[in-house]
Amino acid sequence: MSKFFGENEALKNINLTFHEGETTVILGPSGSGKSTLLRCINLLERPEKGVLTVGNQTIELNKPFSQKNLLSIRQNTAMVFQSFNLFPHMKVLENVMEGPVTVLKKDKEVARQKAQQLLEKVGLSHKTDQYPSQLSGGQQQRVAIARALAMEPQFLLFDEPTSALDPELEGEVLKVLKDLAEEGKSMIIVTHNLNFAREVADRILFLENGEIGYDGVTENFFTANNNERIQQFIKSMQ
Ligand code: ADP
Ligand code: MG
Repeated sequence: MSKFFGENEALKNINLTFHEGETTVILGPSGSGKSTLLRCINLLERPEKGVLTVGNQTIELNKPFSQKNLLSIRQNTAMVFQSFNLFPHMKVLENVMEGPVTVLKKDKEVARQKAQQLLEKVGLSHKTDQYPSQLSGGQQQRVAIARALAMEPQFLLFDEPTSALDPELEGEVLKVLKDLAEEGKSMIIVTHNLNFAREVADRILFLENGEIGYDGVTENFFTANNNERIQQFIKSMQ
């Protein structure tokens, strides 16, 4: 796919396949197209050219597509944002139930039980009746992760999920991501945390100027790599 912002080609004919059960970490300098790539995968941005396939849904991006196709792709590529984006007027439990009830048309009781389970999984079963504003940033982000999981997506997308957090709160969110990776969830994570990337990623994707500078196994990115730009990038992050 290709994505333009005016004259600026933010993604230059990118061709990628993400596999089920894999955790991919996307690295790259600021402005390299990391967020745009995630946003194009779940059609928050509309790429001008190319094809997007998620599960059994294929969309030819230069042609019109239905709201139904769009919703199906969105549901299967749930996004967790840097800024949490919880519904402020809903309690924690309601935040997690909302998508399953309104979009997936799940029975309310079933959705409630599932939401309880997911909040327990992210260590927040004691916060179900609070409002987002009553939680720390790390707790809010864990609610956002539970909310994404509640949609039962094929892929979970994370755009710098810890960059709005104080360092002491980052760990609790990374721990949840690590648990999900170990469970075999299919995840695509944009982060600047190289230690986390090295520990958790099955695959590293390095973007530069809207192009793929590296796509391969994690360890080779950090060790066996004689690409000067990548070495520079790694050094600049330390
Ligand atoms: P990253 O997430 O790697 O920092 P982005 O995907 O946000 O990079 O941006 C990639 C390029 O696309 C940059 O040149 C950026 O200025 C441009 N861009 C991103 N979003 C928009 C937008 N909504 N309007 C115009 N240009 C944008
Ligand atoms: Mg970004």
